[in-house]
Amino acid sequence: MNAEPCVECGDVPELLDEDLTCAPCRIRIHLGATVMETKLVEVRFEIEEVVTCEVVATVEVPIDVIDDDDELLHWLEDNDDAWVDDIDPTAQHVAERTVTDVYGTAA
Ligand SMILES: [Zn+2]
Repeated sequence: MNAEPCVECGDVPELLDEDLTCAPCRIRIHLGATVMETKLVEVRFEIEEVVTCEVVATVEVPIDVIDDDDELLHWLEDNDDAWVDDIDPTAQHVAERTVTDVYGTAA
């Protein structure tokens, strides 16, 4: 005999499902998931993408930063005009995509 309450309604049914919901709640959740109303709308919004890619570039680098990866990293960051043209767009992978703003919808 079950003694655990349903996580949805708090009732203590004779049988609790493995997701800890009672039968009425399980049916309600299932119906809610399948008959949720949707509508096709045009949405204008803004996204921000973090792109990663490997860059191979021949750059003129100060001698004292060549053997220090940290120094080299900072130098590359501060001097992106020295290698930005060497980025291969086909090598870029979107590592993260964030919706930053929603401007509105047109139904
Ligand atoms: Zn319930």
